[in-house]
Amino acid sequence: MGARPLLNRRLAGMGTTIFAEMSALAVATGSINLGQGFPDTDGPAEIAQAAADAVLNGRGNQYPPGPGIPELRTAIAEHQQRFYGLGYDADTEVLVTAGATEAIAASLLALLEPGDEVIAFEPFYDSYAACIAMAGAVRVPLTLRQPAFRPDLDELRSLITPRTRLLLLNTPHNPTGTVLTPEELATIAEIAVEHDLLVITDEVYEHLVFATGHHPIAALPGMRGRTVSISSAGKTFSFTGWKVGWVTANSALIAAVRTAKQYLTYVSAGPFQYAVAEALRLPDSYFDTLRANLGRKRDLLADGLSAAGFQVFAPEGTYFITTDITPLGEKDGLEFCRALPERCGVVAIPNIVFYDNSDAGRSLVRFTFCKKDAVLAEAVTRLQQL
Ligand code: PMP
Ligand code: GLN
Repeated sequence: MGARPLLNRRLAGMGTTIFAEMSALAVATGSINLGQGFPDTDGPAEIAQAAADAVLNGRGNQYPPGPGIPELRTAIAEHQQRFYGLGYDADTEVLVTAGATEAIAASLLALLEPGDEVIAFEPFYDSYAACIAMAGAVRVPLTLRQPAFRPDLDELRSLITPRTRLLLLNTPHNPTGTVLTPEELATIAEIAVEHDLLVITDEVYEHLVFATGHHPIAALPGMRGRTVSISSAGKTFSFTGWKVGWVTANSALIAAVRTAKQYLTYVSAGPFQYAVAEALRLPDSYFDTLRANLGRKRDLLADGLSAAGFQVFAPEGTYFITTDITPLGEKDGLEFCRALPERCGVVAIPNIVFYDNSDAGRSLVRFTFCKKDAVLAEAVTRLQQL
């Protein structure tokens, strides 16, 4: 095939995702997988039953409507109203996608021109860099630095140029667990309005916030018409394999995102859409219990990691803990994570792969705590051998 690389230059160097690499390593070595974020306990049985019933009763087995089934779009609109007082029209302002991953891809592909600049918090969730690249746009990192991992909003202002088109937010933030405060969001909103920027906000961990509460930027003055809000059923209902996500935004933005989305998957997950419509209407007690259980697991793993000698940065949200391995006499998180399964039978994620400024993330390693208590306890015992 000659000297020309097969993979196009926009994706050059992106290789295999760290999640695929580390989960394969966990399987190959029989290690406890605290790497890729997926629960080891499925979501509510009645929701699983609703999916099974939908398959057996022929609901959603053929192509669902392009924007998603009306039952799910209505449930998403109700959810935004119930939790945040945000009103969206289920027919024109809601779009169902193949997970948040497709929502992110379709939004970036729809809204960016080649050469546009996108400011995003670094460390970036991995698909952001890839999708910005596929759109031919340029990512501009705003680095969240340890120990607090808060955005420097003066620095944000300084990163804006005439080519800046959008801000890509993620709150609660993977992998640091930072949850943006109302004050931070208000300043970001002010900057977006002042510079007439679009905002895409990835809120897949919206229900995994321990004390502070989640605040959607779409609710702030001037933001409703410029914000594309993204979430998904994976984290909230512990069915990461179903890949049901959604976008809420005004009808012009939804029409743009839908245009890209219809050529990515067209539609997906027909029967699961019926089940997620039910899940979104679960009582408050479901969401409270999810949060309380994960809060307890967070403390269990954080204490264990501290006892094992890691520097622990307690997350405000998500089901991830970022640690620094420097106190263990280690420097390089990637090397550390590649060796960890052999050394003690545990898998983790090196945060460095989410950075452009490698130095800011070199010694940081992420562990997930969405696992059974006994599994977390065993992982901690193993890590204490280090
Ligand atoms: N955004 C963030 C920040 C994530 O951590 C993930 C992984 N769950 C996704 C998006 C992708 O979500 P989904 O599995 O619904 O595609
Ligand atoms: N969001 C999950 C994580 O951060 C992984 C999803 C994926 O494998 N793409 O662990």
